[in-house]
Amino acid sequence: MSLYDFIIRNGTLVTPNGINQDDLAINDGRIVAIAPTLAGTSKEEIDASGLHIFPGVIDAHVHFNEPGRSEWEGFATGTRALAAGGTTTFFDMPLNAHPPTIEAGSFDLKLAAAQASSFVDFAFWGGLVPGNLEHLDELAERGVVGFKAFMSNSGIDDFPAVDDMTLYEGMARSAKLNKIIAVHAENEQITSCLARRALAEGRTGIRDYLASRPIVAELEAIERAILFAGETGCPLHIVHVSSGRGIRLVTEAQARGIDVSCETCPHYLVLTEEDVEVLGAVAKCAPPLRSEIEQEALWQQLIAGNIPIVASDHSPAPASMKADTNFFKVWGGISGCQSLLQLLLTEGYKKRGLPLTSIIAFTSEHIAERFGLLPSKGCLAIGADADLAIVDLEHSAVLQSADLFYRHQHSPYVGKTLHGRIVRTLLRGQTIFLDGRIIAEPCGRFVGYPPSREGTLPSGQIM
Ligand SMILES: [Zn+2]
Repeated sequence: MSLYDFIIRNGTLVTPNGINQDDLAINDGRIVAIAPTLAGTSKEEIDASGLHIFPGVIDAHVHFNEPGRSEWEGFATGTRALAAGGTTTFFDMPLNAHPPTIEAGSFDLKLAAAQASSFVDFAFWGGLVPGNLEHLDELAERGVVGFKAFMSNSGIDDFPAVDDMTLYEGMARSAKLNKIIAVHAENEQITSCLARRALAEGRTGIRDYLASRPIVAELEAIERAILFAGETGCPLHIVHVSSGRGIRLVTEAQARGIDVSCETCPHYLVLTEEDVEVLGAVAKCAPPLRSEIEQEALWQQLIAGNIPIVASDHSPAPASMKADTNFFKVWGGISGCQSLLQLLLTEGYKKRGLPLTSIIAFTSEHIAERFGLLPSKGCLAIGADADLAIVDLEHSAVLQSADLFYRHQHSPYVGKTLHGRIVRTLLRGQTIFLDGRIIAEPCGRFVGYPPSREGTLPSGQIM
């Protein structure tokens, strides 16, 4: 008779191979057995009859703003929100921390901050900005998942946009390091010119802002980034694609053999420009929310399997930065990481019949695959970390701001009925969230892969 640390009995496991009712056993933080009826005893055991067990979500795109701007969020509150939403690993963006993560010293500061207060596992994006090419090697050495660049103004002075030369040379360098370059793809000239023109004419409302960032700006930047990636051999990732046409450019490039992946975010799938007019600043982001027709095209691309990753792009700020009659001056960024899985369960699974096996692919498996976290993360399989989200799919409830674990409890999803309740979240076998409460101390670990482990990276792989 084996002795396990933890057995979860009778849960409905959502795996790439299908959905089955099984027992799952954990030892030393890893999944060690999955079977219909496991013999053996354990130190702790729960009955998960009627509940679904998902692999913990991996959120490839958040801004927790620590160190330097933790009054906007910080690892302590941000990762509580992740745990409450069933997320067990996240990749933090190099901005809006201060200093931004663009050289080794700032990476080390962020690592120390996250190790002190993160409730879930983490990795970091390094930044590519004009003038930091010489620092990409040291960031790769420390295990960044890749380098993020802005092709348009980032909205924050310490993280300037890349010019074409910096992007091209950065990609050439990154290709040698076998690291992915991620781009915020919007054409700077088009967006800044339209914004200047609107401001000069005193047009500062919501519709004026939306019109200043047209889809053509996104499409042009995606095409240019793909061209540079093809020329340099650099693996490319397009963050937060907001339009179906943007996704089509990515799939066409993949067909030509370019190593490019992409992600979209729940807000582009759930909210439209009409919603921004109703919700206001809480729903401001860039690229902006689009029309219902564009949103439908994005859903079709997701359902067709052309968008491998859905990430939150959680970008929080104090409410004071969300209040200005001039919509151009309002801080752009949506608080949403806590609701990532529930939004896909609500709008995807419940409303459109998106299979649960697709949802786990978009929220964990493909991310682990693309960014080299397999086989420890991304899948309910023997030998993997026991990172689990236990979900009651029979339950739905209206999201209240009091439910949010963010430092600033605002989100465009407040007031929305969300399907699926996250009952329990486990990180490497330890319960960190249970029935609405965080019940652990911060125990997150850095899971980035330094290049010395290059052999395990799925390099050159196209998704
Ligand atoms: Zn972002």
